[in-house]
Amino acid sequence: MQEYSDQYIGGEWRPTLAAESIAVLNPATEQVIASVPAGGAEDVDAAVRAARAAARAWGATSREERLAPLTRLRDGLAARQQEMAETVVAELGSPIGFATAVQAGLPLGVAGSYLDILAGYEFEERVGTSTVFAEPAGVVAAITPWNYPLHQIVAKVVPALAAGCTVVLKPAEDTPLVARLFAQLVHEAGFPAGVFNLVTGRGPDAGAALAAHPGVDLVSFTGSTAVGRRIAEVAGRGIKRVALELGGKSANVVLPGADLTRAVNVNVANVVANSGQTCSAWTRLLVHEDQYEEAVAIAAKAAGKYVPGDPTESSTGLGPVVNAKQRERVRGYITGALAEGARLVVGGAEAPEGLAQGYYVRPTVLADVTPDMAVAQEEVFGPVLSILAYRDEEHALEIANGTEYGLAGSVWAADDETAAAFARRMDTGQVHINGGRFNPLAPFGGYKKSGVGRELGRHGLEEFLQTKSLQF
Ligand code: ADP
Repeated sequence: MQEYSDQYIGGEWRPTLAAESIAVLNPATEQVIASVPAGGAEDVDAAVRAARAAARAWGATSREERLAPLTRLRDGLAARQQEMAETVVAELGSPIGFATAVQAGLPLGVAGSYLDILAGYEFEERVGTSTVFAEPAGVVAAITPWNYPLHQIVAKVVPALAAGCTVVLKPAEDTPLVARLFAQLVHEAGFPAGVFNLVTGRGPDAGAALAAHPGVDLVSFTGSTAVGRRIAEVAGRGIKRVALELGGKSANVVLPGADLTRAVNVNVANVVANSGQTCSAWTRLLVHEDQYEEAVAIAAKAAGKYVPGDPTESSTGLGPVVNAKQRERVRGYITGALAEGARLVVGGAEAPEGLAQGYYVRPTVLADVTPDMAVAQEEVFGPVLSILAYRDEEHALEIANGTEYGLAGSVWAADDETAAAFARRMDTGQVHINGGRFNPLAPFGGYKKSGVGRELGRHGLEEFLQTKSLQF
């Protein structure tokens, strides 16, 4: 077991100023695999000072001077993709196939996309008698969760560095090891000291100290809506900018005339991926009442194919959830839904057979779910699909828009035009049309309580810029 006692600050690994540490558990074995410092306000302060000290020089670099180390960072992510994937398997429990393709593969694509975006971005424009400059926002606090631990780091840190910002990263308690690996790659890429800093620690300590630090100009946060609200309050007091990627309760709406079998099969795969720990997962399947039982039968068959098991095996499609607390939470939503009158189609709250160890949850399909049930309103973050019936298109739209969230969604119809027309009426930031694939260049972010701001692509870069105009 590795016991780390350092933080990456000012271009070097420095001994932590914190006395305590955080144990990192493997959710499949429940064994402690490492420990990292539980950094507090002192480590955060040292990191913010280092970022502040580096901000002016890094902010004044040319596009080419930023592209060179960013390219080396992208190359490092490519060279170490396997190691990154294995680390995510160990600390999060993602199955190795998914971890390689998505957990480690997606960040590689995102990092690459920012090389192109930075190479072509217009940082200067003429508006009448003015020249308008896009300048870096300054020192960025990046606070990230554990569900896509490397992706969420890359989706913040890479565009921030590309914009000319300096960064202090506070990764999630459950997944600090991939964050340490990322810091190592940043180091090897040869960024100037202080441009990127890493402080591991607990949310209420290191996270809160970072969000409140007067040396931070912008807080970019991904996580729960409850914590996002607190961060926005704290940041608001300091007139800091915030970018918030929060929860979701996304609807997959299958309109009459759509390919029902495909729509339901894709939905089950979507909700089971990463053990359901995806903020944009389509956790509510909305089908017309005439097709309801047919949809339930298709979902039951599809979900039955996912057998929870060892995430290190390449044949495994469903691993554990991240920790014991999360498992209890998911189980609570399942029993709660049944108590409220939902019908258990497959799965359930009991531990899967033959898995005495590990934080496993059965893939679960719930039918007869009504919009007022907690499972239809709140984020479950487990492999649980709720199927709801609608009477007509207006009713479907009312249900789809009837939560406090608005992060993602999906619409299936006989043709793309019909699906797109429906999607335009949904109060949500992203919608997949008839199975359209995830696009890492498309802006990602929420309407309503799902967040503020957008990540990925050009929109993601612009989160880290501020404008200055000179009048001639
Ligand atoms: P999740 O539900 O994904 O665990 P959280 O919102 O609890 O999401 O955590 C996301 C990130 O926010 C983590 O890095 C966590 O440490 C951090 N965090 C938690 N509480 C706070 C807080 N009060 N202030 C700042 N950051 C926090």
